[in-house]
Amino acid sequence: MMAQYLEIKQRYPDALLFYRMGDFYELFFEDAEAAAAALDIALTKRGKHLGQDIAMCGVPHHAAEGYLLTLIRKGFRVAIGEQLESPAEAKKRGSKSVVKRDVVRLVTPGTLTEDSLLQARAHNYLAAWAQVRDDCGFAWVDVSTGDVTVTPATPAGLGPLLARVAPSELLVAEGAAAEVSAAAADMGVTLTARPGGGFDSAAATDRIAALYKVDSADAFGTFGRAELAALGAVIDYLELTQRGRLPLLRPPVRERAGGTMQIDAATRANLEITRTLSGNRDGSLLAAVDRTVTGAGARLLEARLTSPSTDLAQIAARLDAVQAFAEDAALTAQVRDALRKAPDMERALGRLGLGRGGPRDLAALRNGLGRAADLSRMLAPLDLPQALRGAAADLAGHDDLLEEFEAALVAEPPLLVRDGGMVAAGYSADLDETRRLRDEGRGVIAGLQGEYARTSGINALKIKHNNVLGYFVETPAGHAQKMMAPPLSETFIHRQTTASQVRFTTVELSELETRILNAGARAQELEREVFDHLAGLVLARAARVANAARALATLDLHASLADLAAQEGWARPKVDDSRAFTVAAGRHPPVEQALRRAGGPGFVANDCDLTADGTAARPLWLLTGPNMAGKSTFLRQNALIALLAQAGSFVPAEAAHVGVVDQLFSRVGAADDLARGRSTFMVEMVETAAILNQAGPRALVILDEIGRGTATYDGLSIAWATLEHLHDVNRCRALFATHYHELTALAGKLAGLRNATVAVREWEGEVVFLHEVTDGAADRSYGVQVARLAGLPEAVIARARTVLDALEEGDRGQGGKARALVDDLPLFSAAPPPPAASKPSPVLDRLADVLPDSLSPRQALELIYELKALA
Ligand code: ADP
Repeated sequence: MMAQYLEIKQRYPDALLFYRMGDFYELFFEDAEAAAAALDIALTKRGKHLGQDIAMCGVPHHAAEGYLLTLIRKGFRVAIGEQLESPAEAKKRGSKSVVKRDVVRLVTPGTLTEDSLLQARAHNYLAAWAQVRDDCGFAWVDVSTGDVTVTPATPAGLGPLLARVAPSELLVAEGAAAEVSAAAADMGVTLTARPGGGFDSAAATDRIAALYKVDSADAFGTFGRAELAALGAVIDYLELTQRGRLPLLRPPVRERAGGTMQIDAATRANLEITRTLSGNRDGSLLAAVDRTVTGAGARLLEARLTSPSTDLAQIAARLDAVQAFAEDAALTAQVRDALRKAPDMERALGRLGLGRGGPRDLAALRNGLGRAADLSRMLAPLDLPQALRGAAADLAGHDDLLEEFEAALVAEPPLLVRDGGMVAAGYSADLDETRRLRDEGRGVIAGLQGEYARTSGINALKIKHNNVLGYFVETPAGHAQKMMAPPLSETFIHRQTTASQVRFTTVELSELETRILNAGARAQELEREVFDHLAGLVLARAARVANAARALATLDLHASLADLAAQEGWARPKVDDSRAFTVAAGRHPPVEQALRRAGGPGFVANDCDLTADGTAARPLWLLTGPNMAGKSTFLRQNALIALLAQAGSFVPAEAAHVGVVDQLFSRVGAADDLARGRSTFMVEMVETAAILNQAGPRALVILDEIGRGTATYDGLSIAWATLEHLHDVNRCRALFATHYHELTALAGKLAGLRNATVAVREWEGEVVFLHEVTDGAADRSYGVQVARLAGLPEAVIARARTVLDALEEGDRGQGGKARALVDDLPLFSAAPPPPAASKPSPVLDRLADVLPDSLSPRQALELIYELKALA
């Protein structure tokens, strides 16, 4: 057995080998040590290998999924080595034969299909990055749903793609550039290096053709060689991990370069699109807009939000779909109700495709197709926009399958076929007959028990069943003698005596048992046949069933966006190919919702106009205002409105006009990136450089407090030059928030620059935030007042005021103000003044006379005694 283990293990050196032995998966050697530590389970020993103890640990087969999940989360991959025959079969081959075993699947983060290992509302992507000379390609696949996407890329594009797709696992060719692994590490993606052969683009063409049963990949569009290589590498890896059994993949969707809004990792993080800066889903844009009622709908929403389109026709079609629902609240509610009961057909289908499905996956398809049929009837008579018409059409056409499934399956089937009871009565005459025999047998046994009790005169006689003896007759030990003497001994054959019971069998009982067993086994066999038949029916039309599943997700997405728009008062944006950007009464969804939850005053809506077309255009806003006034919120809300509009959603505003944005940039002068060993300032400058180098005329840029990470004049100068560059060179639409009021003077010089400020009012020395964005510049920053709101000690506030006054005075006068400050300001002013009415203290009086420098140590000691006496 060890020889077999070692033979299998050497083929999977990078994985933990789960070696099936009866009801357990056992792990040996280093695998056992690693797994025992990771799973916190006992490490034991079993035999010796080359004179050393063999470390071993095991997990029960029926609970393996939980352990697998932990191991995968901790970055392991696991090879599942199953028994491929029963011990009896092995014995037939020879008395010493070890049961045949082999790896049936390699479990890796990117190739999961079990519901318990996946998040229902998030995709789980396996991605590959390929480079063929100067060409780069990126492919990503969700094995659990069959989604496949391919796009051309550039080396600099990998980071943004990883940030967008957030794959669980990235395949790269062995020896790929260090930047590639660095990008993966940055995004926390598991990197899997594969032999270069897997990335061969010629082999890829064959793999694709074979997988999709087409003559060539051209059937799906024109792919670059690197794109083919990336897709081929994914298929190659799936062949390895699924041991030749390929998942049901949909035809690859090719995303052309520039087809989506380009958003880099820093911008995604900053805008908190799918998670907040602290890493939570709660508080993100996604959480604020997600009203979907199905897992597939939620996954589609996430995909839309992370990849807003730049294709006007596509955006318009999506907005039309939302609008159709928005205009019909009753229909929306009805559709959402029907969807609430829809199971996850995509993933059920995925498991069936891989031969990993169970009765509950069939039930999921039955229930899902049932919902699809309901919805199809509901939508058929309506005049729908094109996107919904397509979905409605995909829902229909499965009545025959549905009928068969409804007849075949019980309402709630068991987890496994061998649990029995999956098939409904009346579906298979053969099965019904076998079940009758089996159940009748059980009835006959009950009758037999009564008969035996009567003939023996022992009322306590019972017929029982266990796995060792099968069916047996049992009486209390006190009746043993009677049972074992004639005439009873002629019928009852003694089998076993326990402390309190004696057990017997009879010829009749054995015969009955055989009949029951045979019927049970036969029933199981018949149920397995029904399962295979039903799975076969679905798989024969897998693509169409997948389309129905996708249609449900599409309906869910658009109905939920309409529901959101109606409840939150959102408006349909106008999206066109101009360079307009106007927002009337815009809001920031997560901030608005947080304020609502907190009670108190609501969100103050604000207008924005960054339109870049026309001679009088002022596409660049310089926003000043104190901390906490709402500058960052305003900046982000406008970026989010552009993003939502192009994702095909209504927007949190009374009206919005967005000339299509092809690049979205957001930078905040904050957040140390200590993990990467860069200072705040360095990160800020690297990111700002990226914007100034990349932002084109269709970009939308928001820059928040750039330059604050360094000395005042350095920062001011950098902010100044950045602003000029955006205005003169990038010429994009941009919002620039700053606390350098000096910059407002630039409005006189730069024609496209407008000064705006977030209004505050001063009231009894305190600052009141109005959160209103208006024309003009902030006169001062109210930092001291804000500090006071934050609870800085009164003494510090008072001192800060003095320093501020002196600085402002110095500003008006000439030069050397810091020096003057240090010289002129009274010292110790931060110390609290002595209580006004306190009586003069003899200790203080005495201290006033002391000249510390003139005291000898001895005198100092005496002084302390003296002071102590006075106190
Ligand atoms: P700044 O960037 O100017 O320091 P923020 O944008 O971070 O200010 O806003 C500070 C807080 O003010 C937010 O957390 C929010 O609670 C509140 N706030 C911001 N904008 C608004 C608004 N338009 N209406 C109501 N409250 C707002």
